[in-house]
Amino acid sequence: MTRESILPILGDHHLPYVVPVIVYWVISFIFHYIDTKGLLSAYKLHTSAEDLSKNRATKSNVIKFALLQQACQCTLGYLTATEEQVFPHDYAIAVWAQNVRYGGIVATQWLRYFGLELAWVANNSKDPESGFVERFIQNTYGNNIGNLSHVAQPQTALVSTDFSTWTVITAKLLYWILVPLFQYISVMILADTMQYFTHRAFHVNKWLYRHIHSMHHDIYVPYAYGAFYNHPLETIPIDMILFPMCIAIAKLDNRQATIFGAIWTFKTVVDHCGYDLPYNPCNIVCPHSVLFHDLHHQTWGMKHNFSVYGSFWDRLMRTHWSPCDELAQEKYKRGKVIAETSVARKRLVERASDMTVGKSTAVNT
Ligand SMILES: [Zn+2]
Ligand SMILES: [Zn+2]
Repeated sequence: MTRESILPILGDHHLPYVVPVIVYWVISFIFHYIDTKGLLSAYKLHTSAEDLSKNRATKSNVIKFALLQQACQCTLGYLTATEEQVFPHDYAIAVWAQNVRYGGIVATQWLRYFGLELAWVANNSKDPESGFVERFIQNTYGNNIGNLSHVAQPQTALVSTDFSTWTVITAKLLYWILVPLFQYISVMILADTMQYFTHRAFHVNKWLYRHIHSMHHDIYVPYAYGAFYNHPLETIPIDMILFPMCIAIAKLDNRQATIFGAIWTFKTVVDHCGYDLPYNPCNIVCPHSVLFHDLHHQTWGMKHNFSVYGSFWDRLMRTHWSPCDELAQEKYKRGKVIAETSVARKRLVERASDMTVGKSTAVNT
């Protein structure tokens, strides 16, 4: 059977590629508003002089490429999206309860083998029907509820009648919390690992950097909607092939993929926002999350901080550079001074040329 959609106008299978786009532009708009109104300036990482003198990409081009990337992702999402088969919660919990009971029976047998008898385990894993284990094995119930499609049709009310309270509580805990948590942690580790090594490869290989990834680094002073300013040849393998593969390996369903896609997009946009705000939720997985990626965008920091979620791979592969490090702070300060000088010099040149034009116009008249 198929599940009723969260939104009446759009099936759940379309949400994994639609919701991240909405998150991207909503968060970007909020930061753009903060930027243009000059709010939260105390938390701003860079001065406007740095913005003026360092960034090489025009903002209209950045918006154009971000939209192009999202259009490609949405097209692929639309073409590949499929409605998924789901079971009623009661039925899925009953499957887990059977697995738990089977696990209990196996554990009891092993404990007996070693001369131990744990009454709690034995009582909660007692087979209420003869031949239950045989049927259980025969039906090849695995830990994956998806495997059940060929075994039985969905039924309800299995939980309350067939299992002990503790078995049901354990099954519910597994179904609602532990298994989804394991899936989210797995996909985060997979995606972060993928991101670290592909991102690093784009920097290590000179051709890849010069012709593809350097485009993202045209933004030295990051801002929110610059997060998806990438070359299409970077977007296709990473965002359109490898990222969905991570989701498939972790077996996220459409709703879980939507949540993960939204979190991933939120983190990517916030990491580029240019404000080191307190209570940033992204700091839970990576301390000084915004500063961590901002350092990577500096000319002197490009060979460091390749990860997206945590700093695990950077620390392990010795590419981590803490933005709080003294030398990094020194380089940030120097960058600000150079930008101020460059902007001041540019203004002087402009004023001088204006005066020259003014004088020549006066002479001619
Ligand atoms: Zn990079
Ligand atoms: Zn970036």
